[in-house]
Amino acid sequence: MSMKDRSASTPFGRLRAHYEESRAACPACGHEDREVEWRVTAAAGRRVEYRHRCPSCDAVDTRELSL
Ligand SMILES: [Zn+2]
Repeated sequence: MSMKDRSASTPFGRLRAHYEESRAACPACGHEDREVEWRVTAAAGRRVEYRHRCPSCDAVDTRELSL
């Protein structure tokens, strides 16, 4: 079984995998947040919206995920 199969087996696994992928540099200032913390701000049906505030420049990055 590959890692991809395992992580995609549940909606939560997919969400988590998405978080991991999102652990990247801030689009505004390039700051790399190693302990990035995403907050789910809205969830309706199969869509989840969550956001992250950059600790360096306070830019807010909002992402949406369809489960
Ligand atoms: Zn930033």
